[in-house]
Amino acid sequence: MTNSPIKVAVFPGSFDPITTGHAELVRRAVPLFDKIVVAVGVNTQKKYLFPLEQRLEWLKAVFADEPKVEVSSFEGLTAHFCNKIDARYLLRGLRNASDFDYEKTISQLNDIVGDGLETVFLISQPAYSHISSTIVREIIKGGGDASPFLPKGVEVRK
Ligand code: ADP
Repeated sequence: MTNSPIKVAVFPGSFDPITTGHAELVRRAVPLFDKIVVAVGVNTQKKYLFPLEQRLEWLKAVFADEPKVEVSSFEGLTAHFCNKIDARYLLRGLRNASDFDYEKTISQLNDIVGDGLETVFLISQPAYSHISSTIVREIIKGGGDASPFLPKGVEVRK
């Protein structure tokens, strides 16, 4: 664990694509930290709908007006990335009980692997708790209009 006086949090995810749910969560977390690094975790085994460059470009556009928010990407364990950049906090969202069950295990593991890495959870606002990247991808693949679930600056070509 580092002794950095700066409160840095990492918000990890695939962001394939970023949704209004992710964006709302980060904006609510901004007052809690000195810096939030929105980090795209790259899993070479996983197939994504959008290329990494596109996902990073959207994240940068969405948070261009938030000086405390940085955008990055990493391969390997989230906890190792956090240690590397001196981040002592992970930010995660909870939409429902299945998020809780999954996140609880991951956060307990990250505490050990990340040497005291603390996960901070924000409960989703009701207006966003039904939104997931998975659903958005299904809408896009089916030729539907996903724009109600995409933050301003994110445009998916049909
Ligand atoms: P992954 O691809 O690793 O499943 P996601 O992009 O789905 O990651 O989610 C990253 C984080 O964002 C998770 O903590 C998830 O709970 C949170 N999140 C996703 N959608 C929402 C939402 N609508 N409201 C609040 N949190 C959300």
